Amino acid sequence: MLRVFNFAAGPSTLSMTVLEEAASELVDYRGTGMSLIEMSHRGAHYDAVHREAVSLVRELLMVPPEFHVLFLQGGATMQFAMVPLAFLGGGRTADYIITGHWARRAHADASVVGDARAVWDGSGEGYSRIPSVEEIPFRKEAAYVHMCSNETIGGIQWRDFPDTGGPHLVIDMSSDVLSRPLPWERISMLYAGTQKNLAPAGMTLVIIRDDLLARARRDLPAYLRYDIHADNDSLFNTPPTFIVWVMMLTLRWVKSIGGLPEIERRRDARAAAVYGAIDGSGGFFRTPVERSSRSTMNIVWTLADARLDREFLEGAEREKMYGLKGHKSVGGFRASLYNAMPVEGAEALAAYMRRFAALNG
Ligand SMILES: *Cc1c(COP(=O)(O)O)cnc(C)c1O
Repeated sequence: MLRVFNFAAGPSTLSMTVLEEAASELVDYRGTGMSLIEMSHRGAHYDAVHREAVSLVRELLMVPPEFHVLFLQGGATMQFAMVPLAFLGGGRTADYIITGHWARRAHADASVVGDARAVWDGSGEGYSRIPSVEEIPFRKEAAYVHMCSNETIGGIQWRDFPDTGGPHLVIDMSSDVLSRPLPWERISMLYAGTQKNLAPAGMTLVIIRDDLLARARRDLPAYLRYDIHADNDSLFNTPPTFIVWVMMLTLRWVKSIGGLPEIERRRDARAAAVYGAIDGSGGFFRTPVERSSRSTMNIVWTLADARLDREFLEGAEREKMYGLKGHKSVGGFRASLYNAMPVEGAEALAAYMRRFAALNG
């Protein structure tokens, strides 16, 4: 069997343990003669999986009891719409911190719905850094503040979460969820598409606090109401049972290797390997990202000589490293180093980069 190191930004690599477990039980789930994905979402087998997934999210992320854990559909993109639909209107206003492509998309959707103000916008600096808290003029009257903890395309990441001084903090954590412990006292809601760190594409993990949930508008169609999903334990309609199952297996795997502390150790080892190759190349590789804003999950770089781009990519693929082409909007290269990427994958990439620079520099 062939397995490559898959650095794709999303959908992205999953743990081998998880893939093998799902594969071994895909056709006949625990001797039932049926696949779990053919069973009713109201039955006992699926119910056990669903509940274990919720409880592992709570355990691994140390989610306090006043938060609801929800599994929704429509990707993170649906949350760009659902958040303002629930919390804007009726004269309410929200603050958006625009750190890159994804924060901008969230702001664009919120602007369709209501009064969403860009309180900080890094576009003038090519989205190369995360602002300091002092630079952001938070408004006391904002119903919420929206931010993206890790800009998947630009490769910048918040080290710390800002204290908004009152307004609810809502975070798009699609590309760094489950990679870091969270200061829950500062956070009212987070959401994350599952296809980067948790499972295949097709679901969004939403974690939302009681007091914010209580403010969500009720005059909306059912699926758009967080309160209905919370009241029904995310079983209001048919959930994506396959995704929940694979996510549960991923969470079990994370727990088995040692939980967040081990995830963080691997995260830092991967990032150090690849940034080390960039920094040690004497300018052969360059990253446009400010040092203190460097993402540990998505590392972006360019070659000083862009004529070598193709050769770099082809050489990587010959060595079984895929998905390194940068996003079409920024060019260059990007290595997505999500939770399931083995440290050896990042080390293999760094070694290849050093060899390539030595040969062509
Ligand atoms: C991938 C990504 C999205 C979009 O997710 P979809 O599930 O495709 O809607 C949004 N925000 C961030 C930070 C992402 O990385």
